[in-house]
This record gives sequence, structure tokens and C-alpha cells, in this order.
Amino acid sequence: MTPMVNWNEIHTVLLDMDGTLLDLYFDNYFWQHYVTEHYARRNNTSFAEAEVFLKARFAREQGTLNWYCVDYWTDELGLDIAAMKYEIRHLIRPRETTIAFLDTLKRHHAQVLLVTNAHRRSLELKMEETGLGEYFDALVSSHDLHKPKEDPSFWGELAKSHPFDPARTLLIDDSLPVLHSAQRHGIRWLLSIAKPDSRGMPRDTAPFAALHTFDDIMPIPACTA
Ligand SMILES: [Mg+2]
Repeated sequence: MTPMVNWNEIHTVLLDMDGTLLDLYFDNYFWQHYVTEHYARRNNTSFAEAEVFLKARFAREQGTLNWYCVDYWTDELGLDIAAMKYEIRHLIRPRETTIAFLDTLKRHHAQVLLVTNAHRRSLELKMEETGLGEYFDALVSSHDLHKPKEDPSFWGELAKSHPFDPARTLLIDDSLPVLHSAQRHGIRWLLSIAKPDSRGMPRDTAPFAALHTFDDIMPIPACTA
């Protein structure tokens, strides 16, 4: 499926952070290796044993706010998650065409919101490292709205503080459950990301079209609004 966007019909662009604007390699490395290593050391166990335990533990919280909550995992695992992310912050990187895309969006005068399930502290660290914050009208963490993007009522809550017309809105998000949730709210333009982790494999994102690079939906015509 070829990603298609009619820019003349789009007034609001909602962009996910991890795996969409930023390379998911950081998060995958952090949770799958760095946390596992530290957890194994702290509990005097092998990497393999820690890996089995953590995989099952993470699976239980997938799609919930806990899954994305720095404080929750700090308490659960007895590890200072925020400090550990800070230690490897040099691995936080925008995807290749992210900055050019955001720069073009700015000139298009669309309302551009970063909408993430990431905890405020992760969001702030990532904005600090990448400088992407300046490209947005607002940075929204789902923790502020007390529900994850996977919950279809999230989008109505978001519209209360940042009004948008679902029929004239584009959401780009690597998460398929999030895209389905947005679709249920009536958001018309929905795109996924083919390879959220630059070192991972491309995925099947059906029924949603996926971007390989933001160049797939550029250039964006000059604003008509
Ligand atoms: Mg994501």
C-alpha cells in the first residue's frame, strides 16, 4: 500500500515520538539490554533468567499507562529508570528525515502536535537531546490525560485541550493498536512506520499504509488555509 496524503485537506498533524520521529533503537536497546543487564546484576541472576522474567512482566502491562510509566518501573524493578535512560542518552536519535519533515510542516502552517505515551520525564529528556520541541505547537504526554492513546476516548480528551477536526487530521504512529484507536475516533488520515527500529526488520502494518521515510509524503504544498 502506497502512503497517500492530500495535504490540502489536512489542518492538524499528530505525531508520535518513539519509533515515529525518533529511532526506536534507543528504547529497544534500553528495555531489552540495558535494563535486563542491570536487573540481572542487582538480583544476582543471569542475563537469560532476567530476560525471561522481564519479558513476561512487561507483557502483562503492554498497552497500559503503567507500561509507559517511569515511576512504575522504578518501583517494580528497583532500578532508577530515569537515571539509566540519562546514562545512555547519546543513543537517542531522530529518524533520518524527521527534521526536514518537521521543518516543512512548520512552513505549511498546520497545527502540529507531538502526542506520545511516553512519560513526561522521558519526553523531556528526548526533546533536550534532539531539540525537536521547537517544531511543535504542543507536546502532549498521555499521562497528563490519564489514559493511553490505545484507548479510543483518548482522542476526545485531547481535542478538549487542543481542538482538531478528525476529518482534517493526519496521525503518524508506529503503533497499530494506536492507529486502530484513532480510527475509531474518526481520524481520517492514518499512517504507520515500516521500520521503527533502524536496526530491526520491516513490519506488516496492514490495514495501514506505512512510511519508509517521511520523503514518501513530501513535498508538502504551500499552505492554502
Ligand atoms: Mg511509538
